[in-house]
Amino acid sequence: MASNRPALPTRRLGKTDLEVTVVGFGGIPIQIVAEDVAVAAVRKAYDLGINFFDTARGYTNSEERIGKALEGRKYFVATKSGNREAEGVYRDVERSLANLRRSQVDLYQLHGVNNDDELDGVLAPGGALEGLRRARDEGKIAHIGITGHRRETLVNAVERCEDFASVQVPFNLVEDEILDNLVPLCAERDVGIIAMKPIGGGNFTNAPLAVKWCIAQPITVAIPGMATPQEVEEDLAVVKQPTLTAEEQVAIDRMRSELNQRTCRRCRYCEPCPQGVQIGMLLHGRSIVHRMGAARWKEWGAIEIIASADLCTECGECVEKCPYELPIPELIREATDHYRTIPELTED
Ligand code: SF4
Ligand code: SF4
Repeated sequence: MASNRPALPTRRLGKTDLEVTVVGFGGIPIQIVAEDVAVAAVRKAYDLGINFFDTARGYTNSEERIGKALEGRKYFVATKSGNREAEGVYRDVERSLANLRRSQVDLYQLHGVNNDDELDGVLAPGGALEGLRRARDEGKIAHIGITGHRRETLVNAVERCEDFASVQVPFNLVEDEILDNLVPLCAERDVGIIAMKPIGGGNFTNAPLAVKWCIAQPITVAIPGMATPQEVEEDLAVVKQPTLTAEEQVAIDRMRSELNQRTCRRCRYCEPCPQGVQIGMLLHGRSIVHRMGAARWKEWGAIEIIASADLCTECGECVEKCPYELPIPELIREATDHYRTIPELTED
């Protein structure tokens, strides 16, 4: 077992007793590298002091790899299930325990609750929350959390249900709207905030600086995705000097102003396109490829999505609907040019 691990700064995760490091391990990308690389990345994170590892049933082999890498070590693990039924999510808890080689999961999250209808469903009798309560009563999990991409739905979740110890939500220097409502509400209700996508799903150029900005905000833990030991070292270098210098603040302002004009927030207000261009997926695909791999995106219909870009007439209707006034046709062209350099996405 590793010893003499550096003591990283920690924060209590909401109403739990979990003192988690301010940077955690985002477990999506380890599914697209070789197993020995994945295991080495997880162990490097542990050896450098990270004590919080986030994964999901939906990240193919991520749970197994974390379980294998950290078996017998002391760490906090968060996983999640997208199953919406009590019985289904309860079975998923049992699968997670086997994959992670643990007798208890510290935090089990309802995965990707992205609108109020879904929230109604998971909170209803027989819904997923019921299954997690049962697992908690039996000691299979310690705490319950929720994840999603829409802050309004997460605000409703926290207001309606006291079971949630944490929310996991996209948060980074261009997607910081949760500071207006979700962050103060969670502070009031003692709910932890797990910041996903602190480096924009892998799209920001200066990842360490973006992580540093994120942990300087009133959130609990940022979980950048990491796939290799080198990425772990880069992301963790910032924790040694967590305060932003004046020079770094200038660099952040510059990065924010560049990214603001180029970053899609996945809100989908621009859709539907009258020509059938799959705008949201075209702009989001780069992040999927980065984190899940091109082969996985292809399974989800990438070839058809990319082909839809050719239908764009540059009418400008989507640009008028985009609250961020992004140059959507230009971004679609850039993204499509990029996808067409990836062999898996050009073959039939
Ligand atoms: S500019 Fe292109 S993508 Fe946007 S609405 Fe018009 S056809 Fe669709
Ligand atoms: S292009 Fe604009 S409106 Fe469309 S999903 Fe992205 S941020 Fe939202």
